[in-house]
Amino acid sequence: MTLHVYDHVTRSRRQFEPIHPGKVGMYVCGMTVQDKPHVGHMFAFVACDMVRRYLEYLGYEVTHIQNFTDIDDKIIAKATEEGIDFREVADRNIALYHEYAEVLNIQPAHEYPLVTGYIPEIIAFIDGLIAKDHAYASGGDVYFRVRSYDDYGFLSGRHVDDMRSGVRVEVGEKKDDPLDFALWKTAGDDEPGWESPWGRGRPGWHIECSVMSTKILGNHFDFHGGGRDLLFPHHENECAQSCCGTGEKFVNYWLHNGLLYLGDKKMSKSDGNFFAMGDVLAKFSPEVIRFYLLNAHFRSQIDYSEERLRASEAALDRLKRGAARLHEMLASTVDPVPEGLVSEPGEILAKAIRKHNRRFFAAMDDDFNSAGALGALFSLVRDLNQYYSAAGAAVLDAGILRDAWEFYAKGVDILGLLQGGLEALAGVGKNEIPAEILQLALDRDAARARKDWAAADSLRDEIQTKGFRVEDGPSGTQVHPS
Ligand SMILES: [Zn+2]
Repeated sequence: MTLHVYDHVTRSRRQFEPIHPGKVGMYVCGMTVQDKPHVGHMFAFVACDMVRRYLEYLGYEVTHIQNFTDIDDKIIAKATEEGIDFREVADRNIALYHEYAEVLNIQPAHEYPLVTGYIPEIIAFIDGLIAKDHAYASGGDVYFRVRSYDDYGFLSGRHVDDMRSGVRVEVGEKKDDPLDFALWKTAGDDEPGWESPWGRGRPGWHIECSVMSTKILGNHFDFHGGGRDLLFPHHENECAQSCCGTGEKFVNYWLHNGLLYLGDKKMSKSDGNFFAMGDVLAKFSPEVIRFYLLNAHFRSQIDYSEERLRASEAALDRLKRGAARLHEMLASTVDPVPEGLVSEPGEILAKAIRKHNRRFFAAMDDDFNSAGALGALFSLVRDLNQYYSAAGAAVLDAGILRDAWEFYAKGVDILGLLQGGLEALAGVGKNEIPAEILQLALDRDAARARKDWAAADSLRDEIQTKGFRVEDGPSGTQVHPS
């Protein structure tokens, strides 16, 4: 199977095709930083990180851009309430985001554009929309003319004529049509603002993402992420602005993660229905939280409860113990093994590893189904336990156990499950041979298999430099403490 991703146009999964061979552009709607991140926010970023890791594993060079909305009515309200500059509010919450992202093992984006860093570009983009009659200025504001874009509603599957009833016009808005939305809003004298052809003001929310994504990634790019609650109107509006502004296609695949529910309501700061990340981290390790968030398909809804987090803690522990035991087993299979001799339980295990490996990648290829992939890792743990009880002390199967280890390590890495990757998985310190050294031995075997003697020699030297003795056994590289 090859990677298939859900496509909003055909409403089905279709084979992933990058716009530029070997490269992927991914824009993720980041936080509006009026307050501390909660678990619901971080879910979107963990999901996109998992997607990015898998794309990178497949060999794509991913450019990951994630913005921060650092100017907005709520940020201004917060700053006014505290009597400080809006930048202070934004900066302290951005710093918190980075802190949480790091412990949740989310790889840093390549760039974190800020709205306040893109004001001239935003003004120029709005100007372009006005020139094409997709937008109009009205009393210091600028609005996008929704009915000027025929495809409006395609992303969320709505029709413009059905939208009228739900639309609210705020006091002071001077729109030609209630459906139209603000691109630029006039700012009061005591509010932060920038000079523009339409007077002093600030950007509306949706325009920033159209401008920053296309400026950095190009007009047409591969992936756009964000929570399902952003689908309408935010992403629908982004599509309208971008397609009308650039005259080109905008995004190929939308990564809308499901929402985190608390009771029967979505986790939301504005409703007061949320768990702040800091409070959850005081009770559960970031590894457990990440595992919990990935143990469902990212597009599905997740119900948040401490009970479920505790279950995740136990499950992750099972996975870790399975790995530590495998590592111990590997460390004890250092004696030369007669070539071709494999125990019967070993044969069964070898077959199981191949099956779980296929299952893991079939799940990831199926629209990044991390829950299915985790299921394959747990099946490996179960089959390893069966192997240990059947094989007893007669360990002949170093090669097979290495295959199991390699699959384990790859799975953990792709899902970003453990901060320390392999080393953490092995519980290094308790064992004679560190996981890092075992990995070098595996790499050396792979180099030898492809007859890359230079690489094999340099890997041998590397292992020796790190204080271990290398021998060539019939089942591959053997490492001993020197
Ligand atoms: Zn956005």
